[in-house]
Amino acid sequence: MSNLIQPGETLRVLVFGAHPDDCDVSMGGTVLRYVQAGARVQFVSLTNGNKGHQSILPVALAKRRQDEAEAAAAIFGVEKYTILSHEDCELTADLATRRQVTTLIRAFAPHLVFSPRLCDYHPDHRATAQLIQDASYIVNVPHWCQNAPIRGVTPVIYFVRDSFRYPRELRPDVLVPIDEQLDILLTALCCHESQFFEWLPHDKGIREVPDADHPEERKAFIRKYWLDVRKQYDRNRFFSCLQERFGEAAKAIGHVDAFELSEYGNQPTEEDMEFLFPFPVYRRETWKTTGQRS
Ligand SMILES: [Zn+2]
Repeated sequence: MSNLIQPGETLRVLVFGAHPDDCDVSMGGTVLRYVQAGARVQFVSLTNGNKGHQSILPVALAKRRQDEAEAAAAIFGVEKYTILSHEDCELTADLATRRQVTTLIRAFAPHLVFSPRLCDYHPDHRATAQLIQDASYIVNVPHWCQNAPIRGVTPVIYFVRDSFRYPRELRPDVLVPIDEQLDILLTALCCHESQFFEWLPHDKGIREVPDADHPEERKAFIRKYWLDVRKQYDRNRFFSCLQERFGEAAKAIGHVDAFELSEYGNQPTEEDMEFLFPFPVYRRETWKTTGQRS
């Protein structure tokens, strides 16, 4: 019998990112599937994202990004988008922030936590990954963080996708088809105007940017530069897994979210997986090959 599932409980999903659009981009399609399935979902951004702009100064940018994140959260149907006040580009895996992460996990008692991997181009993403790894075991240590009561749920932790190859490429333990969610995902991502239509095109040297009077062109713009290069790429590189699970129907899948199981969280049983992913997914049979901590 699983030690994760209590009868009658609603699935709780906590997604961590470093910046106030990371959760959205990394797994927004899967989040829409969770919300549609009746799960409770919360997002956390560990920094306020106050540096990512070519002209707006930090105080104004933090406020604007909070408003953008809240607008996106409403479209996703997530119940809370927590944005901590750490400065963009300055996040470190220190003790005080480890306490904050522990407190956030204990407060919501998620069955599932999503995190970036430790190998990543951005120092804030790496620090986020380190902080969650550092909290993953001690979240249930009784005298650590005594102000935040232990809730008795040890979360299963998955890494969201990336395309880095060193020290090792992402292992696709779970693949979630998201084609049906693509349009609403793009609508939600359009809320992050300061990023997708201002800072990121500037950073990438893209000159032709659609304006707010052309919402469909804006969605197509995000799809071209940020979604297809990730979600279609993952569909192609992990296609043999999709074929194994979906057979001929795999050919009709265009976009997927890919996840890798962390060894440091709870290791799900086959029964847990039915609860954790209540929609059709490819699942590598990790319950046959991984054990609990020893
Ligand atoms: Zn980021």
